[in-house]
Amino acid sequence: MRDQLKRLEELQRHDARIQELENALKAVPAKLATNQADLARVEALLVSERAQLAETERYYGEQKGQLEQDEENVTGAKHKLSQAKNSKEYMAAQRETESRRDGVASREAEVAKLVDAIEAKKKVLGERAQSVEEVRASVEKDGELARVRVAEIEAKIAAIRIERDQVARDVRPEVLKRYSGIRIRRGLAVVGVRNGTCRGCNMNIPPQLYNVLQRGSSIETCPSCHRIIYWEDLMKDPESAKGDTTAG
Ligand SMILES: [Zn+2]
Repeated sequence: MRDQLKRLEELQRHDARIQELENALKAVPAKLATNQADLARVEALLVSERAQLAETERYYGEQKGQLEQDEENVTGAKHKLSQAKNSKEYMAAQRETESRRDGVASREAEVAKLVDAIEAKKKVLGERAQSVEEVRASVEKDGELARVRVAEIEAKIAAIRIERDQVARDVRPEVLKRYSGIRIRRGLAVVGVRNGTCRGCNMNIPPQLYNVLQRGSSIETCPSCHRIIYWEDLMKDPESAKGDTTAG
């Protein structure tokens, strides 16, 4: 029975390792999804900034058109000035000319501001596009690494499963069935008992059961957590136990 318990412990180690690797496998796509979301966010930002630039350029074109109109208005006012028949008409034409000239000056200032704004925006966009490219390259690289990692983990799991199944063949079917049932419910199915305490739930084992455990001739379960239990000293390798004694 000691051999069966040893096998069970070995089986449990393999199952725990498989579980651990399966969890690592599950974590891979989550990390990739985060990277993809980051990339999508910076790409969306780039698109929105490009739209802003297009809007500024459209407004610039409109203002340039208005400037031509403003300049025509100055020409028209000057013409009125030259055609003035009396001082009243002359004064009025002069006021209009001045006001039209002010209009041209302020429109020119507006157009100049837009030219600066467009230049600055183009510079920022160039940098932004560069950094989006960097993020994209890093996401692609991470994706490639993730594929390699997944393949590695899957190969490890497959190898451990083969070992695990070999160990399982040496466990009696009814013991294996009990082990599997407890594992599904409790995670850890086989635990040691040390100083009369179950290491799975930390409850004391009744003295009578403790005596049974020390004989190691049957598979017993903890009355509190229902895990398969064994007396830890029983499982110690005679060699290492001897080593402990000399060391102590
Ligand atoms: Zn217990």
